[in-house]
Amino acid sequence: MSGQEFEAVIGLEVHAQLLTDSKIFCGCSTRFGEKPNRHTCPVCLGMPGVLPVLNRRVVEYAVMAASALRCEISSRSIFARKNYFYPDLPKGYQISQYELPLASRGRLEIPDGKGGRKKIGITRIHLEEDAGKLIHGEGPEAGVSYVDFNRTGVPLIEIVSEPDLRTPEEAGEYLRRLAAILVYLEVCDGKMEEGSLRCDANVSIRSVGDSGLGVKTEVKNMNSFRNVERALKREIERQIDLVRAGKRVVQETLLWDPDREVTVPMRSKEEAHDYRYFPEPDLLPLILEESWIGEIAGSIPELPVQKADRYVRELGLPEYDAGVLVAARPVAEFFEACLVLHPDAKKVSNWVMGEILRLSGEGGDADIPMSPKAMVKIIRMVEQGTVSGLMGKKILEESYRSGKDPEKIVEEQGLAQVSDESELVGMIAEVLEANPSEVERYRSGEEKLLQFFVGQVMRKSKGKANPKRLPELLKAHLSER
Ligand code: ADP
Ligand code: MG
Ligand code: ZN
Repeated sequence: MSGQEFEAVIGLEVHAQLLTDSKIFCGCSTRFGEKPNRHTCPVCLGMPGVLPVLNRRVVEYAVMAASALRCEISSRSIFARKNYFYPDLPKGYQISQYELPLASRGRLEIPDGKGGRKKIGITRIHLEEDAGKLIHGEGPEAGVSYVDFNRTGVPLIEIVSEPDLRTPEEAGEYLRRLAAILVYLEVCDGKMEEGSLRCDANVSIRSVGDSGLGVKTEVKNMNSFRNVERALKREIERQIDLVRAGKRVVQETLLWDPDREVTVPMRSKEEAHDYRYFPEPDLLPLILEESWIGEIAGSIPELPVQKADRYVRELGLPEYDAGVLVAARPVAEFFEACLVLHPDAKKVSNWVMGEILRLSGEGGDADIPMSPKAMVKIIRMVEQGTVSGLMGKKILEESYRSGKDPEKIVEEQGLAQVSDESELVGMIAEVLEANPSEVERYRSGEEKLLQFFVGQVMRKSKGKANPKRLPELLKAHLSER
């Protein structure tokens, strides 16, 4: 047994909060960060005698996500009650979908690590409502818990994958791509750290070559993409160690402890819930017309993978550039708007990848506070030699932060490059006079000292000397006797 090779089998269940203004079954606001229990009403507090009314926008967003994930969308789906008791669930049940979900049989592609792509199946996507939030007191309030129902009834979609993933890295890739698609669609903000995207990871192991499925565990409580990968890696190691030691994996739910980097048991199968699902009597079946589904599918923007393909195919960009540029929609849109004004894709890409992404803080999911027109003005100033490349970057940074027009910045701060010969010659003469021994050494053959002189003149000009013209002029002056 000890030489046995194992592989992991992973399937993810992802909950994504939809970005509607109001909740799924009432008119309460979904706004985050309000005082506790501000956004509540008899419906989302589960008072007797109230009736839920489905939010049309929620269905629209879910259909967008489902069609971007290439799902079959059901013309008829059913809401169901999932019954359990928990203090954050005032009705004693959660309205979800069970037997007839909104969508099924979709797929998402991830890189296969060999230059190709691997399809990960999506089993189903269904609609449901979120529960509230418990806040456990600390210090003098230890042992006291509060409940905040602002989140109760916030719309979610649950996206369940097939057990098609084989490594923690693949799982991470799947999740990041899924998040990117939802963010592109503007139906979810994709933030795992804030809980608007949550992932339960199901994992089992089997001998390489086996096709059956082993007993799985489910890991919860990972609040970042990195943590999902780490938790899976540890859990796979734990399962392999168990089997190597002649023991068995038991089906259970585990919690990831990010501080200790271990998975800890939460509940076993014996304690597993029987949710006693039954069709929700207060809501009619959800019937969607083909034409409406078609309309929504038709309104979907170009998605990151398609965009990246197009950048490579039509613009001739390297795949790496394309991948970086499309990762966040505002960045991709900024890049495309710049291209309209300046057709050199690689040059524009270098500026956007190097400078704009650095300034927008890598993630680049916030809007870019600068106009494409200003960006292109700077590229042109550098091309024409009005400013050096280095100066161009400084101007960009200032324009990015202040919103000022680049030409105005150049004018106000006198940044235009010194290409005027007489001015340069004056500075060169001063530098040569101040460094007679270096001049002597250069003239007796130490030509690498040219860089020293370039540096000195640059400093004198405060970085504004034309970097192409300067060495030529210096050489000419140094060879004069
Ligand atoms: P449960 O009823 O425990 O929620 P499901 O069959 O609904 O289980 O599957 C939940 C998730 O677990 C899905 O993403 C599925 O792909 C994955 N999964 C199911 N069986 C296994 C297994 N043996 N190993 C790994 N993942 C699995
Ligand atoms: Mg499950
Ligand atoms: Zn409400």
